[in-house]
Amino acid sequence: MQLDDIETIAVLGAGNMGHGIAEVAALAGYEVRLRDIKEEFVQNGYEDLVWSLEKLAEKEQISEEEAQAAEDRVTPLVDMEEAVGSADVIIEAVPEKMEIKKDVYGEVEEYAPDHAIFATNTSSLSITDLSEVTERPEQFCGMHFFNPPIRMQLVEVINGEHTAEETIEVIEDLADDFGKSPVRVRKDSPGFIVNRILVPLMNEACWIVEDGTATIEEVDSTTKYDIGLPMGAFELGDQVGNDITYHVLEYMHEVEGEAYEPCPMLEETVENENLGKKTGKGFYDYEDGDGADVPTDEIREDVKERLMATMAKEVAYLVGDDVAPAEDVDEATMLGAGFPDGPANLCDDAGLQNLADTIDELYEETGEERYDAHDYLYEAAEAGGFYGSDEDEDGENFEVITFERKDIDVPEGHSEKQVAHIEIDRAHRMNTISLEILEELQDAVDIVEEEDQIRSVLITGDGEKAFSAGADVQAMATSADPIDAIDLSRTGQETFGKLEACSAPVVAGIDGYCYGGGMELSMCTDIRIATPRSSFGQPEHNLGLIPGWGGTQRLSNIIGEGRAKEIILTADQDYDAETMQDYGFVSEVVDKDDLYDRAFELASELGQGPPLANEFSKKAMLKGRDDTEAGLEVEAQAFGHLIGTDDIMEGMTAFMGDGEPDFEGK
Ligand code: NAD
Repeated sequence: MQLDDIETIAVLGAGNMGHGIAEVAALAGYEVRLRDIKEEFVQNGYEDLVWSLEKLAEKEQISEEEAQAAEDRVTPLVDMEEAVGSADVIIEAVPEKMEIKKDVYGEVEEYAPDHAIFATNTSSLSITDLSEVTERPEQFCGMHFFNPPIRMQLVEVINGEHTAEETIEVIEDLADDFGKSPVRVRKDSPGFIVNRILVPLMNEACWIVEDGTATIEEVDSTTKYDIGLPMGAFELGDQVGNDITYHVLEYMHEVEGEAYEPCPMLEETVENENLGKKTGKGFYDYEDGDGADVPTDEIREDVKERLMATMAKEVAYLVGDDVAPAEDVDEATMLGAGFPDGPANLCDDAGLQNLADTIDELYEETGEERYDAHDYLYEAAEAGGFYGSDEDEDGENFEVITFERKDIDVPEGHSEKQVAHIEIDRAHRMNTISLEILEELQDAVDIVEEEDQIRSVLITGDGEKAFSAGADVQAMATSADPIDAIDLSRTGQETFGKLEACSAPVVAGIDGYCYGGGMELSMCTDIRIATPRSSFGQPEHNLGLIPGWGGTQRLSNIIGEGRAKEIILTADQDYDAETMQDYGFVSEVVDKDDLYDRAFELASELGQGPPLANEFSKKAMLKGRDDTEAGLEVEAQAFGHLIGTDDIMEGMTAFMGDGEPDFEGK
């Protein structure tokens, strides 16, 4: 089966997760059968789904028509035969009890078509065990959404022992088509990826308090304000629900042994029904106390070491046992747990060798199994980190963008030519532009200028949501000092200016949001193509700000002052690709599925053009923008310069002989 064959999706269980998954599937255009065991339950789930669609429409994230169409695609049902009889994929989200799930699969098997794939949303049970209660273990896998499915980008797609490659690929494609970011979990391992990182971390936080090393406040202060996680470990536990952490841990304990023994402190908290925010009390008191009031200044270096070492140990198990490579561990944890950076990267930055030594010492001192690390941890430490030593083979070290040299398909005998593909790699933050991105963009342009075989550049944004939704507000909000703000504006202006002045042609492939700083970045590319669903805008005026990275100048150059004023002064964010094409900002509107190929084709075409002519035309146009006389002078000088070059000979000869020129930039 392929993605195109999927039309109908059955979602079993209309609870918390089930109704959300059904909503996501319906929004992506699938016919959805939402099933629960009682009319009342399924109606409740359906009402939640409708309510959520209405909210999305109210907030203008989707149109009224889209909300209505999605609602019309969902059929709430109790009858199992009707629910699964014509389903291509069956996503199961019934309670987390093996017995219940087994019964459900038994019944589903009676009515489901032979070709249908079964996907379970279980958070902790074994995919292999579940698959074995069905008659189609090879058509069975995990499809683990995060709560709430409508908002959370990550879907862990999990291989059971019997899962066929085709099954896993179709479900990854489906998650992708749902607008989510699937990350593959290659082995059925307890906690999959995200919980395997989070849960032992929370358990270790408990052990640190249990053994009297530090207080809850010190642990949380360290996690939040030193390690830089979005919440303190206990704060996070209360948020997730301490019973859920405990439950996953118990399961890991059962499967993996003593290393995952739940800390008594956690056990007690759960026994006392202090489950966290949802019950009003957990490690913090949310009803009678101040809630999770994490102090900023109780950071402890030893606590950090222990927590980071625990994290390194878990990453090493995941990578060492081939559950997922470090990149996937990082991506999943950032998307699923809101980490600002992935755990593997954080450990590398902290010095993996140090962390390996810490775990080693802890194991020697205590003999506790939870400090018994996988050999891979020591191997990775020896190699300089999970990502190897700091610099890759090319001596480059990009973290927030990816920089790839892609070969242009040139006629035989022609010299090698490449497109530099730069991708903004912060899908979990809608590719918003941070200071780090600005720095890396500057480095990327330097490489393009240095390497002769790179003839053009393609810029895209990672993920499903955005080309770039703007400047990273965190970067903007670091200080209210006007001097800092001027600096920030200048840094952006300088970086984007460098890109604009790049001698190679630059194409932007835009899909999704292209707002504020993101749109200003696109203004510095030479040709912009976009998907129909892309939306553009300069929303700065909504915040009382102005476009600070060149937007007040460059937009007028591209679309004229009248239109530029309209966009900047209205601050509207709903300029669609077609309108922007009418305005002359976008050159071409192409379907989402074709965007990358078309953008690459365009960049390749430009890359086969004459490098010097590309450079000088761009230079003359840039120079002439404010001063036509100066531009004309550059043009004349360049014209004179070009006339004596090899490329002119090459171009002329090819023209006469009707062949393709192989320009060398000489
Ligand atoms: P829930 O209790 O909110 O919903 C479960 C629903 O399944 C209920 O409406 C229940 O009536 C229904 N149900 C019970 N027996 C059924 C049956 N035989 N057939 C069909 N429906 C039946 O639970 P939930 O939080 O939505 O969790 C569902 C699954 O998703 C679990 O496996 C859970 O581990 C997993 N999960 C939960 C979360 C989360 O944060 N809640 C996150 C990821 C995965």
